[in-house]
Amino acid sequence: MDCLFCKIAAGEIPSAKVYEDETILAFRDINPQAPTHILVIPKAHIGSVAELTEANAALVGHIFAVIPEIAVREGLTGGFRIVSNCGPDAGQSVPHLHFHILGGKELSLEMA
Ligand code: AMP
Ligand code: ZN
Repeated sequence: MDCLFCKIAAGEIPSAKVYEDETILAFRDINPQAPTHILVIPKAHIGSVAELTEANAALVGHIFAVIPEIAVREGLTGGFRIVSNCGPDAGQSVPHLHFHILGGKELSLEMA
């Protein structure tokens, strides 16, 4: 499939990995919006949150079990933000499910 994050998951395009296991991968965003900006993706292709069903519950649960581990490892003691842009109105630019971890500074509260 011609999908950037599928290629990153397959190792065909390099990334700055911070976590990897059989089902998910986390790597540094190439255009960071905060001192720490990491993307967490499933290795299997899912387009966005809009495609999630009960069948993905274990996978999404796993992602959200690993996110706090990454936050500790990255020293995000002041907190962090999780963002998942879904579809054009949210400005999703890569159509493969990903969760942004943003932290390392006091983040703006602007949401829209
Ligand atoms: P979104 O706009 O929510 O779909 O987020 C996509 C993110 O992927 C953006 O923050 C981009 O900076 C990031 N990105 C695009 N290409 C790469 C890449 N090759 N490696 C790491 N991050 C990337
Ligand atoms: Zn993909």
